[in-house]
Amino acid sequence: MFACVGYAATAADAPLKPFAFERRDVGPEDVRIDILYCGVCHSDLHQARNEWKNTIYPCVPGHEIVGRVAETGSWVSKFRKGDLVGVGCLVDSCRECASCKDGLEQYCEVGFVGTYNGEDRHGRGITFGGYSRAVVVDQSFVLKVPETLDPAAAAPLLCAGITTWSPLRHWKVGPEQRVGIVGLGGLGHMGVKFAKALGAEVVLFTTSQSKVADGIRLGAHEVVLSKDPDAMAKERGRFDFILDAVAANHDINAYLDLLKRDGTLVQVGAPETPLPVSVFSLLMKRRNFAGSLIGGIAETQEMLDFCGKHGITSDIEMIRMDEIEGAYERMLRSDVKYRFVIDMASMPETV
Ligand code: NAP
Ligand code: ZN
Ligand code: ZN
Repeated sequence: MFACVGYAATAADAPLKPFAFERRDVGPEDVRIDILYCGVCHSDLHQARNEWKNTIYPCVPGHEIVGRVAETGSWVSKFRKGDLVGVGCLVDSCRECASCKDGLEQYCEVGFVGTYNGEDRHGRGITFGGYSRAVVVDQSFVLKVPETLDPAAAAPLLCAGITTWSPLRHWKVGPEQRVGIVGLGGLGHMGVKFAKALGAEVVLFTTSQSKVADGIRLGAHEVVLSKDPDAMAKERGRFDFILDAVAANHDINAYLDLLKRDGTLVQVGAPETPLPVSVFSLLMKRRNFAGSLIGGIAETQEMLDFCGKHGITSDIEMIRMDEIEGAYERMLRSDVKYRFVIDMASMPETV
C-alpha cells in the first residue's frame, strides 16, 4: 500500500475537499500511473451529489484519466515506464461472461468495476477515481494514448469521447445520414466532432444562443436553437439518428418527432429523474429509442487511435483542483466550453 492524496465528496451536500487514502501496491498485472490530468464529467457531479442515489462516501470522482506509467508489475507486457496512458470509466470486469468475451466490458453481466464508486475486486472496498495523484490499474483496463495528442485535451476522450463514439459506431453513422446531436457540453461537443469525422451531415441542437458559432466551428453543418418551436418544427421527420447528451430533465418527445421512419434516438445523457416517452412518437414511424453506456476497452483504444490519426481532442478549460466546485456550478448552468480538465500538478501533496 502507498499513501495517496485526492479530492473527495464526503456527503451529497458537502463540497469536495482534500482526502488522504491508500492505493494498493503494484501486483503482477498492474500498472501504477502518475496522473497528469483528469477531465470533469457531469457524471462526477451526479455522483458526488448522490443524484443517482447510489453514492458511497467518501467518493473520489474522476474517470477521464491521463498520466504516465510510473511502475509496472512483473507480468505486464503492454506498457513500459514513461508511457502516456489513459484510464476511463472501467477498471475491471468479470472477463468471463458473454459481454466481456465480446469486448463489451461495460455491459458485464456480473457488473463492471467503475473507476470510482465501484466495488474493488482487489478486496479493498470501494474504488477511488482520478481526482488524485496516482492510480493502480490492471493492464487490461489501461489504454495507450497517442503521444501526438495534447495529453490534457485527450483526457476527456476517456469518457466523453468513448460514450459518443460507441453509439455512433454501433448504429453505423456515416455519409448520407442526417445526424442530430443534442446538448453542446462535454459529451455533445465530442459527438459533433466524431459524427462530422465519420462523414455524416451534423445538426446541433442547443439551448444556448452563445454556443451557435462554436457549434459550426466544431463541425456542425447547422445549429438549431431547441427553445425555438418554429425551428424545431422545420426539422420534423428529417433525421436518421439523434444522440441526446443532455444532463438534465427535458422533453425527448420533441426529438423523437424529428426522426425519419425507422430512425433511432440514442440517449446517453443520464438525468436523475425518468424521461416520459410518447408511445405514439415511436409507433407512428416505427422509430427506435435506445440507450448506450460508455464503451468497451477495445473500442476505446480504437477511438483513441482514430483520434491520434485525425488529430481529434476535446476543447478544454484547465482548472486547479481547488476550483472544482466552481466548475460544477458552471456545468449546472451549461456554462462549459467544452470540458473542464484538472491539472493534477495543483493537487496538494499532503492533506
Ligand atoms: P455537460 O458537459 O454538463 O453538458 C450537458 C449539456 O446539456 C449542457 O451543456 C447543455 O447544452 C445541455 N443541457 C443542460 N441542461 C439542459 C436542460 N435543462 N435542457 C436542455 N439541455 C440542457 O455534461 P456531460 O459531461 O456532457 O454529460 C451529459 C450527460 O451524460 C450527464 O447526464 C452524464 O452523467 C451523462 N453521461 C452518460 C454516459 C453514458 O455512458 N451514457 C457517460 C458519461 C456521461 P446546451 O447548452 O447546448 O443546451
Ligand atoms: Zn463520464
Ligand atoms: Zn463480465
